[in-house]
Amino acid sequence: MTKPAVLILLGPPGAGKGTQARMLEEDFGLVQLSTGDLLRAAVAAGTEAGGRAKAVMEAGQLVSDDIVLAILKERMGAPDVAKGIILDGFPRTAGQAAALDGLLEAAGQKVTAAVSLEVDDEAMVGRVAGRFTCAACGEGYHDEFKQPAVAGACDKCGGTAFKRRADDNAETVRERLQAYHAQTAPLIAHYEGQGVLQRVDAMGSIADIRAALSAIVTRVAA
Ligand code: AMP
Repeated sequence: MTKPAVLILLGPPGAGKGTQARMLEEDFGLVQLSTGDLLRAAVAAGTEAGGRAKAVMEAGQLVSDDIVLAILKERMGAPDVAKGIILDGFPRTAGQAAALDGLLEAAGQKVTAAVSLEVDDEAMVGRVAGRFTCAACGEGYHDEFKQPAVAGACDKCGGTAFKRRADDNAETVRERLQAYHAQTAPLIAHYEGQGVLQRVDAMGSIADIRAALSAIVTRVAA
């Protein structure tokens, strides 16, 4: 890649943003930047920001822009992001998108592509409610769609402890879907206006979506 890419993955909970971001890391050496992961780490570490975010996340609502922007800016200051980034779960509001545009402009950069992962809401409840991850390496699994090859052991690292997110239950997923449609879906038009929007049908297999994303990244960022 000639210049550091800034990719944005847009889509409701369960669309596959995290799964595909991890694959793009593998395929292109980009760095996944998930504000959800950063917030969960802040909650686990018991920081002040984590304390303020915890109940909001458990209710399936959006954490305030000031908290999210503070943790994102801190992460974007780390040297590894110079390779290029995949923003997973950020921006989620018009305010966050404007702040990102400003941050990038100040660094002489802009969004390379914003990919909208297009899915049916109803299928998302089942996708999210069945998912779990390896506690050691974060590899994602699903009760129905992707069990570890050897039961109880992570395919990637062999870890035997798995975890489920507190907000991955049917009731909270519906809240999160509502938040997505009310506050995040309008960003599709924002990036369409910038001429960087790409739409991908994300109802297919993980492999098919990976291939579609790889083709886009190769085209826009190589
Ligand atoms: P995720 O892991 O992306 O599904 O995010 C989990 C939860 O973290 C969301 O339901 C929100 O409560 C919070 N969150 C993550 N990213 C953001 C963001 N960019 N803006 C506001 N809240 C966020």
